[in-house]
Amino acid sequence: MTQEIIYDSLSRPLKDLRISVTDQCNFRCSYCMPAEIFDNNFPFLKRDQLLSFDEIIRITKMAAQMGVEKIRLTGGEPLLRKDLHLLVEQLNKIDGIKDIALTTNGVYLPKYAKKLKEAGLNRVNISLDAIDDEVFRKMNGRDVPTGPVLKGIESAQAVGFKVKINAVVKKGVNDSQVIPMAKHFKGSGVIVRFIEFMDVGSTNGWNDKHVVPKKDIIKWISEEFPLEPSDPNYFGEVASRYRYKDGTGEIGVISSVSDSFCGTCTRARLSADGKLYTCLFSQRGHDIRSLVRSEENDYVVLKALVDIWEKRSDRYSDERRADGTHPGTKEKIEMSYIGG
Ligand code: SAM
Repeated sequence: MTQEIIYDSLSRPLKDLRISVTDQCNFRCSYCMPAEIFDNNFPFLKRDQLLSFDEIIRITKMAAQMGVEKIRLTGGEPLLRKDLHLLVEQLNKIDGIKDIALTTNGVYLPKYAKKLKEAGLNRVNISLDAIDDEVFRKMNGRDVPTGPVLKGIESAQAVGFKVKINAVVKKGVNDSQVIPMAKHFKGSGVIVRFIEFMDVGSTNGWNDKHVVPKKDIIKWISEEFPLEPSDPNYFGEVASRYRYKDGTGEIGVISSVSDSFCGTCTRARLSADGKLYTCLFSQRGHDIRSLVRSEENDYVVLKALVDIWEKRSDRYSDERRADGTHPGTKEKIEMSYIGG
Protein backbone atom coordinates (compact mmCIF):
# COMPACT_ATOMS: atom_id res chain seq x y z
CA MET A 1 0.00 0.00 0.00
CA THR A 2 1.28 3.49 -0.75
CA GLN A 3 0.67 5.82 2.14
CA GLU A 4 0.69 9.53 1.60
CA ILE A 5 0.25 12.06 4.37
CA ILE A 6 -2.50 14.52 3.52
CA TYR A 7 -2.55 17.99 5.08
CA ASP A 8 -5.51 20.30 5.56
CA SER A 9 -5.55 24.01 4.71
CA LEU A 10 -3.92 24.77 8.08
CA SER A 11 -1.11 22.22 7.54
CA ARG A 12 -2.57 19.62 9.92
CA PRO A 13 -2.02 16.00 8.85
CA LEU A 14 -4.80 13.42 9.03
CA LYS A 15 -3.66 10.80 11.55
CA ASP A 16 -6.70 9.56 13.49
CA LEU A 17 -10.11 8.31 12.49
CA ARG A 18 -12.84 8.04 15.11
CA ILE A 19 -15.54 5.69 14.03
CA SER A 20 -18.97 5.75 15.63
CA VAL A 21 -20.56 2.32 15.28
CA THR A 22 -23.96 3.18 16.77
CA ASP A 23 -25.89 6.23 17.96
CA GLN A 24 -27.61 4.19 20.72
CA CYS A 25 -26.46 4.17 24.33
CA ASN A 26 -27.48 2.44 27.57
CA PHE A 27 -26.71 5.63 29.54
CA ARG A 28 -28.36 9.03 29.40
CA CYS A 29 -25.58 11.33 30.66
CA SER A 30 -27.07 14.80 30.93
CA TYR A 31 -24.06 16.41 29.25
CA CYS A 32 -24.30 14.09 26.23
CA MET A 33 -27.70 12.38 25.74
CA PRO A 34 -30.17 14.07 28.11
CA ALA A 35 -33.02 11.63 28.83
CA GLU A 36 -35.75 14.18 28.14
CA ILE A 37 -34.56 14.52 24.52
CA PHE A 38 -33.24 11.00 23.83
CA ASP A 39 -36.46 9.23 24.88
CA ASN A 40 -38.46 6.41 23.29
CA ASN A 41 -39.65 8.73 20.53
CA PHE A 42 -36.16 9.81 19.51
CA PRO A 43 -35.46 8.93 15.85
CA PHE A 44 -32.39 6.75 16.33
CA LEU A 45 -30.76 5.39 13.17
CA LYS A 46 -32.28 2.27 11.63
CA ARG A 47 -30.21 -0.86 10.92
CA ASP A 48 -29.89 -0.21 7.18
CA GLN A 49 -28.75 3.35 7.81
CA LEU A 50 -25.70 2.16 9.72
CA LEU A 51 -22.50 1.52 7.83
CA SER A 52 -21.86 -2.22 7.61
CA PHE A 53 -18.53 -3.59 8.84
CA ASP A 54 -17.49 -4.10 5.19
CA GLU A 55 -18.24 -0.45 4.44
CA ILE A 56 -16.30 0.69 7.50
CA ILE A 57 -13.32 -1.45 6.46
CA ARG A 58 -13.38 -0.07 2.92
CA ILE A 59 -13.38 3.53 4.16
CA THR A 60 -10.68 2.81 6.75
CA LYS A 61 -8.41 1.27 4.11
CA MET A 62 -8.62 4.53 2.18
CA ALA A 63 -8.09 6.59 5.31
CA ALA A 64 -4.95 4.52 5.99
CA GLN A 65 -3.69 5.43 2.54
CA MET A 66 -4.13 9.07 3.54
CA GLY A 67 -1.95 8.69 6.63
CA VAL A 68 -4.41 7.49 9.28
CA GLU A 69 -2.62 5.27 11.81
CA LYS A 70 -5.01 5.31 14.75
CA ILE A 71 -8.60 4.20 14.97
CA ARG A 72 -10.93 4.85 17.88
CA LEU A 73 -14.25 3.01 18.01
CA THR A 74 -16.93 4.98 19.77
CA GLY A 75 -20.62 5.90 19.69
CA GLY A 76 -23.22 5.99 21.30
CA GLU A 77 -22.08 2.99 23.25
CA PRO A 78 -19.92 0.96 20.85
CA LEU A 79 -20.35 -2.31 22.79
CA LEU A 80 -24.04 -2.24 21.84
CA ARG A 81 -23.00 -2.96 18.26
CA LYS A 82 -23.26 -6.70 17.69
CA ASP A 83 -20.00 -8.59 17.09
CA LEU A 84 -17.76 -5.55 17.44
CA HIS A 85 -14.76 -7.86 17.85
CA LEU A 86 -15.22 -8.97 14.24
CA LEU A 87 -14.79 -5.37 13.12
CA VAL A 88 -11.68 -5.02 15.29
CA GLU A 89 -10.25 -8.19 13.75
CA GLN A 90 -10.66 -6.76 10.24
CA LEU A 91 -9.36 -3.29 11.19
CA ASN A 92 -6.29 -4.93 12.68
CA LYS A 93 -5.40 -6.42 9.30
CA ILE A 94 -5.34 -3.07 7.49
CA ASP A 95 -1.89 -1.96 6.35
CA GLY A 96 -0.79 1.21 8.11
CA ILE A 97 -3.18 0.97 11.08
CA LYS A 98 -0.97 0.82 14.15
CA ASP A 99 -3.36 1.40 17.01
CA ILE A 100 -7.01 0.52 17.64
CA ALA A 101 -8.70 1.99 20.71
CA LEU A 102 -12.21 1.88 22.16
CA THR A 103 -14.15 4.46 24.19
CA THR A 104 -16.88 2.84 26.26
CA ASN A 105 -18.86 3.27 29.45
CA GLY A 106 -17.44 -0.12 30.42
CA VAL A 107 -20.65 -1.85 31.48
CA TYR A 108 -20.35 -4.61 28.87
CA LEU A 109 -16.60 -5.09 29.16
CA PRO A 110 -16.87 -8.12 31.47
CA LYS A 111 -18.67 -9.82 28.56
CA TYR A 112 -16.48 -8.63 25.68
CA ALA A 113 -12.99 -7.63 26.95
CA LYS A 114 -11.37 -10.99 26.21
CA LYS A 115 -12.83 -11.26 22.69
CA LEU A 116 -11.76 -7.69 21.91
CA LYS A 117 -8.23 -8.30 23.18
CA GLU A 118 -7.93 -11.45 21.08
CA ALA A 119 -9.23 -9.56 18.05
CA GLY A 120 -6.38 -7.04 18.34
CA LEU A 121 -7.85 -4.08 20.21
CA ASN A 122 -4.93 -2.18 21.77
CA ARG A 123 -6.41 0.24 24.29
CA VAL A 124 -9.57 1.04 26.21
CA ASN A 125 -10.83 4.37 27.53
CA ILE A 126 -13.63 3.96 30.04
CA SER A 127 -15.91 6.83 30.98
CA LEU A 128 -16.57 7.30 34.70
CA ASP A 129 -17.52 10.72 36.02
CA ALA A 130 -17.69 9.99 39.75
CA ILE A 131 -16.53 7.49 42.32
CA ASP A 132 -19.42 8.31 44.63
CA ASP A 133 -22.43 6.14 43.77
CA GLU A 134 -25.03 8.81 44.32
CA VAL A 135 -23.30 11.36 42.08
CA PHE A 136 -22.66 8.75 39.40
CA ARG A 137 -26.25 7.44 39.44
CA LYS A 138 -27.54 10.94 38.77
CA MET A 139 -24.98 11.75 36.16
CA ASN A 140 -25.54 8.73 33.94
CA GLY A 141 -29.30 9.30 33.83
CA ARG A 142 -30.04 5.56 34.24
CA ASP A 143 -29.44 5.20 37.96
CA VAL A 144 -26.51 2.85 37.37
CA PRO A 145 -24.11 2.61 40.34
CA THR A 146 -20.33 2.67 39.87
CA GLY A 147 -20.03 -1.12 40.47
CA PRO A 148 -20.65 -2.30 36.89
CA VAL A 149 -18.19 0.26 35.50
CA LEU A 150 -15.54 -0.64 38.06
CA LYS A 151 -16.05 -4.30 37.12
CA GLY A 152 -15.59 -3.29 33.47
CA ILE A 153 -12.30 -1.61 34.37
CA GLU A 154 -11.15 -4.71 36.23
CA SER A 155 -12.02 -7.04 33.39
CA ALA A 156 -10.20 -4.82 30.87
CA GLN A 157 -7.09 -4.87 33.05
CA ALA A 158 -7.41 -8.60 33.64
CA VAL A 159 -7.04 -9.33 29.93
CA GLY A 160 -4.07 -6.98 29.65
CA PHE A 161 -5.50 -3.67 28.40
CA LYS A 162 -3.94 -0.39 29.48
CA VAL A 163 -6.93 1.59 30.77
CA LYS A 164 -7.57 5.31 30.81
CA ILE A 165 -10.59 6.85 32.49
CA ASN A 166 -12.52 9.75 30.92
CA ALA A 167 -14.22 11.95 33.52
CA VAL A 168 -16.26 14.92 32.35
CA VAL A 169 -16.31 17.60 35.04
CA LYS A 170 -19.45 19.70 35.36
CA LYS A 171 -19.46 22.50 37.91
CA GLY A 172 -22.03 22.00 40.67
CA VAL A 173 -22.71 18.44 39.53
CA ASN A 174 -19.55 16.35 40.00
CA ASP A 175 -16.72 18.79 40.68
CA SER A 176 -16.72 17.36 44.21
CA GLN A 177 -15.43 14.15 42.61
CA VAL A 178 -12.18 15.46 41.13
CA ILE A 179 -10.03 14.71 44.18
CA PRO A 180 -11.79 11.43 45.11
CA MET A 181 -11.35 10.21 41.52
CA ALA A 182 -7.67 11.16 41.50
CA LYS A 183 -7.21 9.47 44.89
CA HIS A 184 -9.04 6.29 43.89
CA PHE A 185 -6.90 5.66 40.81
CA LYS A 186 -3.56 7.09 42.04
CA GLY A 187 -0.95 4.34 42.01
CA SER A 188 -3.24 1.85 40.20
CA GLY A 189 -1.71 2.22 36.75
CA VAL A 190 -4.99 3.69 35.48
CA ILE A 191 -4.69 7.24 34.12
CA VAL A 192 -7.67 9.51 34.79
CA ARG A 193 -8.27 12.20 32.18
CA PHE A 194 -10.51 15.00 33.37
CA ILE A 195 -12.48 16.57 30.52
CA GLU A 196 -13.84 20.10 30.56
CA PHE A 197 -17.60 20.03 29.93
CA MET A 198 -17.86 20.94 26.24
CA ASP A 199 -20.48 22.71 24.18
CA VAL A 200 -20.95 19.77 21.82
CA GLY A 201 -24.34 19.34 20.20
CA SER A 202 -27.31 21.55 20.91
CA THR A 203 -29.26 19.66 23.56
CA ASN A 204 -27.05 19.50 26.66
CA GLY A 205 -27.85 22.99 27.94
CA TRP A 206 -24.17 23.96 27.91
CA ASN A 207 -23.26 27.14 29.69
CA ASP A 208 -19.73 28.38 30.36
CA LYS A 209 -20.64 28.66 34.06
CA HIS A 210 -20.72 24.85 34.19
CA VAL A 211 -17.13 24.53 33.01
CA VAL A 212 -14.37 23.79 35.51
CA PRO A 213 -11.22 25.04 33.76
CA LYS A 214 -8.04 22.99 33.56
CA LYS A 215 -6.17 25.33 35.90
CA ASP A 216 -8.69 24.67 38.71
CA ILE A 217 -8.56 20.91 38.24
CA ILE A 218 -4.75 20.95 38.41
CA LYS A 219 -4.76 23.28 41.42
CA TRP A 220 -7.25 21.18 43.41
CA ILE A 221 -5.42 17.90 42.81
CA SER A 222 -2.00 19.47 43.32
CA GLU A 223 -2.97 20.82 46.72
CA GLU A 224 -3.66 17.27 47.85
CA PHE A 225 -1.19 15.33 45.70
CA PRO A 226 1.57 17.54 44.21
CA LEU A 227 1.77 17.40 40.43
CA GLU A 228 4.24 18.54 37.78
CA PRO A 229 3.72 18.89 34.01
CA SER A 230 4.86 16.09 31.68
CA ASP A 231 5.70 16.33 27.97
CA PRO A 232 3.13 15.11 25.44
CA ASN A 233 3.64 11.53 24.27
CA TYR A 234 3.16 12.54 20.61
CA PHE A 235 2.09 15.43 18.36
CA GLY A 236 -1.64 16.03 18.63
CA GLU A 237 -2.17 14.37 22.03
CA VAL A 238 -5.48 15.75 23.33
CA ALA A 239 -4.75 15.62 27.07
CA SER A 240 -2.17 17.78 28.82
CA ARG A 241 -0.25 15.41 31.10
CA TYR A 242 0.72 15.93 34.74
CA ARG A 243 2.62 13.40 36.86
CA TYR A 244 2.48 12.93 40.61
CA LYS A 245 5.72 14.17 42.14
CA ASP A 246 5.85 11.06 44.32
CA GLY A 247 6.09 8.86 41.23
CA THR A 248 2.70 7.16 41.63
CA GLY A 249 1.43 7.85 38.13
CA GLU A 250 -0.16 10.65 36.16
CA ILE A 251 -3.40 12.37 35.24
CA GLY A 252 -4.47 14.24 32.12
CA VAL A 253 -6.75 17.18 31.44
CA ILE A 254 -8.59 17.75 28.18
CA SER A 255 -9.18 21.48 27.99
CA SER A 256 -10.99 22.13 24.75
CA VAL A 257 -12.79 25.12 26.33
CA SER A 258 -10.23 26.97 28.46
CA ASP A 259 -7.12 26.09 26.45
CA SER A 260 -8.07 24.85 23.00
CA PHE A 261 -5.78 22.74 20.85
CA CYS A 262 -7.20 23.01 17.31
CA GLY A 263 -3.70 23.72 15.94
CA THR A 264 -2.67 20.11 16.53
CA CYS A 265 -5.98 18.41 15.69
CA THR A 266 -5.31 15.46 13.40
CA ARG A 267 -8.73 13.80 13.84
CA ALA A 268 -11.61 13.04 11.48
CA ARG A 269 -14.86 11.46 12.62
CA LEU A 270 -17.08 9.01 10.79
CA SER A 271 -20.65 8.86 12.07
CA ALA A 272 -22.52 5.57 12.35
CA ASP A 273 -24.44 6.40 9.16
CA GLY A 274 -21.32 7.24 7.20
CA LYS A 275 -20.97 11.01 7.35
CA LEU A 276 -17.45 12.35 7.67
CA TYR A 277 -16.92 15.25 10.07
CA THR A 278 -13.72 17.24 10.28
CA CYS A 279 -14.50 18.82 13.66
CA LEU A 280 -16.30 17.69 16.81
CA PHE A 281 -18.29 20.90 16.67
CA SER A 282 -19.32 20.60 13.01
CA GLN A 283 -22.75 21.61 11.79
CA ARG A 284 -22.78 19.14 8.92
CA GLY A 285 -20.90 16.15 7.61
CA HIS A 286 -19.93 14.79 4.19
CA ASP A 287 -22.04 11.89 2.99
CA ILE A 288 -19.55 9.07 2.39
CA ARG A 289 -22.17 6.31 2.72
CA SER A 290 -23.87 7.36 -0.53
CA LEU A 291 -20.53 7.19 -2.28
CA VAL A 292 -19.62 3.75 -0.98
CA ARG A 293 -23.12 2.45 -1.79
CA SER A 294 -22.89 3.80 -5.35
CA GLU A 295 -21.08 2.21 -8.28
CA GLU A 296 -18.08 4.49 -7.80
CA ASN A 297 -14.71 2.79 -7.50
CA ASP A 298 -12.16 3.23 -4.71
CA TYR A 299 -10.24 5.86 -6.64
CA VAL A 300 -13.29 8.14 -6.73
CA VAL A 301 -14.08 7.63 -3.03
CA LEU A 302 -10.46 8.20 -2.01
CA LYS A 303 -10.32 11.38 -4.09
CA ALA A 304 -13.45 12.66 -2.33
CA LEU A 305 -11.92 11.94 1.09
CA VAL A 306 -8.66 13.67 0.18
CA ASP A 307 -10.57 16.65 -1.12
CA ILE A 308 -12.56 16.97 2.13
CA TRP A 309 -9.41 16.89 4.28
CA GLU A 310 -7.42 19.25 2.06
CA LYS A 311 -10.22 21.84 2.26
CA ARG A 312 -10.57 21.52 6.04
CA SER A 313 -10.16 24.79 7.93
CA ASP A 314 -12.18 24.11 11.15
CA ARG A 315 -10.86 25.55 14.37
CA TYR A 316 -14.08 25.88 16.33
CA SER A 317 -12.64 25.85 19.85
CA ASP A 318 -9.98 28.42 18.97
CA GLU A 319 -12.72 30.68 17.61
CA ARG A 320 -15.22 30.16 20.44
CA ARG A 321 -15.92 33.45 22.19
CA ALA A 322 -15.61 33.86 25.95
CA ASP A 323 -19.41 33.65 26.35
CA GLY A 324 -19.46 30.32 24.51
CA THR A 325 -20.91 31.63 21.25
CA HIS A 326 -19.15 31.08 17.95
CA PRO A 327 -19.21 33.19 14.80
CA GLY A 328 -21.18 31.35 12.13
CA THR A 329 -22.17 28.21 14.06
CA LYS A 330 -25.72 27.50 15.22
CA GLU A 331 -27.04 23.93 15.42
CA LYS A 332 -24.18 21.49 16.06
CA ILE A 333 -24.22 17.78 15.59
CA GLU A 334 -24.76 15.68 18.74
CA MET A 335 -21.76 13.91 20.28
CA SER A 336 -23.68 10.65 20.69
CA TYR A 337 -24.15 10.63 16.91
CA ILE A 338 -20.77 11.84 15.73
CA GLY A 339 -18.87 9.80 18.34
CA GLY A 340 -16.72 11.09 21.20
N1 SAM B 1 -20.53 5.59 25.29
C1 SAM B 1 -19.12 5.70 25.26
C2 SAM B 1 -18.61 6.27 26.57
O1 SAM B 1 -19.37 6.46 27.47
O2 SAM B 1 -17.41 6.52 26.66
C3 SAM B 1 -18.55 6.42 24.06
C4 SAM B 1 -19.23 7.65 23.55
S1 SAM B 1 -19.09 9.07 24.56
C5 SAM B 1 -19.89 10.26 23.51
C6 SAM B 1 -17.40 9.46 24.41
C7 SAM B 1 -16.83 10.42 25.41
O3 SAM B 1 -17.37 11.70 25.21
C8 SAM B 1 -17.12 10.07 26.86
O4 SAM B 1 -15.94 9.99 27.60
C9 SAM B 1 -17.99 11.21 27.32
O5 SAM B 1 -17.80 11.46 28.66
C10 SAM B 1 -17.50 12.34 26.44
N2 SAM B 1 -18.47 13.43 26.35
C11 SAM B 1 -19.74 13.37 25.94
N3 SAM B 1 -20.34 14.58 25.99
C12 SAM B 1 -19.40 15.45 26.45
C13 SAM B 1 -19.40 16.84 26.74
N4 SAM B 1 -20.48 17.59 26.56
N5 SAM B 1 -18.27 17.40 27.19
C14 SAM B 1 -17.15 16.64 27.36
N6 SAM B 1 -17.08 15.32 27.10
C15 SAM B 1 -18.20 14.72 26.66
